[in-house]
Amino acid sequence: MNYIPVNEPLLDGNEKKYLQKCIETGWISSEGPYVKELEEKVSLMSGRKFGIAVCNGTAALEAAVIAAGIKEGDEVIMPSFTIISCASAVIRAGARPVLVDSESDTWNMDTGQIRDKITGRTSAIMIVHIYGLPVDIDPVLKIAEEFNLKVIEDAAELIGQTYKGKPCGNFGDVSTFSFYPNKHITTGEGGMIVTDDAEIAEKCRSLRNLCFKNGRRFVHDELGFNFRMTNLQAAVGTAQFEKLNEKIIKKRMTGKLYSELLKDIPFIKLPLEKTEFADNIYWVYGILIRKEYGMNAEQIMKELDNLKIGTRPFFYPMHLQPVFKKSGMFRNEEYPVSENLAEYGFYIPSGLGLTEDQIKYTAEKIRKVFCD
Ligand SMILES: *Cc1c(COP(=O)(O)O)cnc(C)c1O
Repeated sequence: MNYIPVNEPLLDGNEKKYLQKCIETGWISSEGPYVKELEEKVSLMSGRKFGIAVCNGTAALEAAVIAAGIKEGDEVIMPSFTIISCASAVIRAGARPVLVDSESDTWNMDTGQIRDKITGRTSAIMIVHIYGLPVDIDPVLKIAEEFNLKVIEDAAELIGQTYKGKPCGNFGDVSTFSFYPNKHITTGEGGMIVTDDAEIAEKCRSLRNLCFKNGRRFVHDELGFNFRMTNLQAAVGTAQFEKLNEKIIKKRMTGKLYSELLKDIPFIKLPLEKTEFADNIYWVYGILIRKEYGMNAEQIMKELDNLKIGTRPFFYPMHLQPVFKKSGMFRNEEYPVSENLAEYGFYIPSGLGLTEDQIKYTAEKIRKVFCD
């Protein structure tokens, strides 16, 4: 068996055909028709009125945060255990991330900790769905209503997942997706903002395109970004989207098969199969080593690498990030669940291109590492 990469995308639909169409028609820039088509498809699926395609999921968050009205001096409550894009979007808007810890079983933000973190400066809560199960959103929406806070939903990892039967991407004031190659739908690099709020949508569209004014071109009232998605990217995304349901089924089959093959291995904790809100979609298949085993994720990942299995460590908590420590942020803050996840968690090959043989081989080697 060759080395099994942690992710291999699957491009087995109309990607080539649609890309060819871009080239034949000359529509390669963000003005091309696939951009609008993808925006319509993704917003419709999310039950949202508006979709704004951008160049990646990080950019989607940056625009969404500004468009939601987060400004200098505000505080935004978010999980410590997430990707830096969430925190950097808030910081670039001049605001401050305020952190909560994660739940030890779902690895999602512990919504029970939000209330204590609210101050007079809090302006929003950022929900981030992690790895496969949705955040328990209803309590967040309730708190947000009570304190008049905005809610930004980072659904980068969970396009196609639901919370109590409603699609992820449908919650709060504005939601974002990523189309990086390890996400359920990829455009190489890409992202999307969805919202029901016409003002937020308009603001995102403007921010995406350098805040060009409607009247005289090249006159600007505000500073924007070039966050545009190309028609080439959207062509790939449109083809990918046609197969979203198949992809979700494949992810769930992969997750279930891993769980079946790994379930009796001692000293590891597997992802929950479901919560009361949703069945796991297994965006990635995470494994948490129990402390008692005496080895951390880094050591196990090295052993698996020697056995030709690609892995990735879990997220590294925001409160421990060197870049933030340098500026004195999050000083003396502790989030033990996040810290444990970062030290002992890793994920195994879970891409859509993975074959059943590769899954079985991977499971066999994991068993070898922990049981021999
Ligand atoms: C992937 C991801 C992003 C960032 O998306 P990019 O397209 O890589 O910029 C943001 N948030 C979460 C939770 C992600 O997993």
